[in-house]
Order: sequence, then structure tokens, then C-alpha cells
Amino acid sequence: MASISLKKLNKTFGALTVVHDIDLEIADKEFIILVGPSGCGKSTTLRMIAGLEEISGGELIIGDDLMNDVPSKDRDIAMVFQNYALYPHMTVYKNMAFGLELRKAPKDEIDRKVQEAAKILDISHLLNRKPKALSGGQRQRVALGRAMVRNPEVFLLDEPLSNLDAKLRGTMRAEISKLHKRLNATFIYVTHDQVEAMTMADRIVVMKDGHIQQVDTPQNLYDRPINMFVAGFIGAPQ
Ligand code: ADP
Ligand code: MG
Repeated sequence: MASISLKKLNKTFGALTVVHDIDLEIADKEFIILVGPSGCGKSTTLRMIAGLEEISGGELIIGDDLMNDVPSKDRDIAMVFQNYALYPHMTVYKNMAFGLELRKAPKDEIDRKVQEAAKILDISHLLNRKPKALSGGQRQRVALGRAMVRNPEVFLLDEPLSNLDAKLRGTMRAEISKLHKRLNATFIYVTHDQVEAMTMADRIVVMKDGHIQQVDTPQNLYDRPINMFVAGFIGAPQ
């Protein structure tokens, strides 16, 4: 069960507080999207959930477990980044297999998972290539595949489509929504693309200056934004 609770979650860098007392309850298998202007704390929040950034205050609970001090490698979480962060010297196959190899999974199991993910993402024909021989969309699929093979209960995606052109973004949006339905995982997705947020999310979290402004379904946010900031961000008439 990968319900996620953020209780008064805080992040400070020196004297600067960049995430302020965030309270958020995310249901198991929900697709949550964080939106808000650049610098409002979206990536920092994801990175705390992933264990890539220390939590300065409050609690992160996944399922029934307090996760604050659990190392990143021991969290059942995969993260997909905007810049893909593929290993340039490894083939696509190796990029996808590497994490499982580190965990000492059996070779035949690794092979089965890589082949299966590649098939779903339509990259089976690319497994022997290196990342530099791939298009942006193909690289993004490999990054998704690398996360998928681990079969994590939580998927974190930080602006995964922002480097793609508009047409490909549309295709990948649909692919990621399909992936969410197919996998048994909770998705937390950061974007500043309003269309992505409105079309993909079960619920949207609107952030500003490290605070949550409003959390609701796309329809409710659109119909009943609590303030001008949310209205402006969601694009409802003001
Ligand atoms: P977003 O993803 O919403 O654009 P971030 O979470 O990346 O925002 O950043 C939130 C704030 O935290 C920004 O003001 C950023 O400059 C600051 N910040 C992020 N990482 C660090 C760091 N390692 N040291 C100091 N400040 C940081
Ligand atoms: Mg960011």
C-alpha cells in the first residue's frame, strides 16, 4: 500500500525555508500533479519523498511507515527526471537493467523485466543503442523503462516532458496516463504545463513560495479556485 502522508513537511537551506509545513494526503495509486511557478518548492518536495534531500521538519509516511530516516536506496520509489539522466556509455538495455543488477536480481528475471518494459514502451528495437543515438522522446521512454523495471510502488516524475516538442508531449502524456493505469503505483508528477495538469491528474496541488495554496480535482480547481493566484495558474476566467 503506497498511500503517502506529508505532515507539516519542511525544508530549509540555511536560513531559507523553501518548503513550509506542507500537509498532503495522497491515496494509494492516485495520480497527483504538483504545479506552481519556478522556485516554489516542487522539486525539493519530490526529492524529500525520494530521499534525495534530507527532511528538515515534519513527517513523511508511506503506507504505515515513517520514512524520514530511510535511505533513498531502501525506498520503493523510482524517479524520472526532466533531463532523463541516462548513463551515456551504457546501451539502452544496460541502462534499464543496471538498477536491478545492483540489487543482484537473477539474470533471467532482469531480462524478462527489461524485455517486457521495452515492449510496453515500444523501444524493443532500440535496446542495443547508446543514448546519444536516440531522439528526445526515445530517451524519455528509456528513462520511464528504467523506472518501470523496478516495479516501484511510488513513481516520482519531475517535469518529464518539458524537453520534448509539443506533438511528442501530447503522445507521451497519453503514454504516461496509460502506464499509470497499468502499473500498481502511486504517481506524483511535477509540471508547469497547465494542459498536462488538467488532463492527467486525479488531483492537482497548486504551490506558491513553498506553501500549498489549494488541492483539488482539475474540475473543482477550475470551477472554484480559492484565490486569484490559483485562478491565474489554472487559467479560469477571473
Ligand atoms: P521548483 O522545482 O518548484 O522550481 P525547487 O524545489 O527546485 O523549485 O526550489 C525551491 C527553492 O529552493 C528555490 O528557491 C531554490 O533556489 C532553492 N533551492 C533548491 N535547492 C537548493 C540547494 N541545494 N541549496 C539552496 N537552495 C536551494
Ligand atoms: Mg523543479
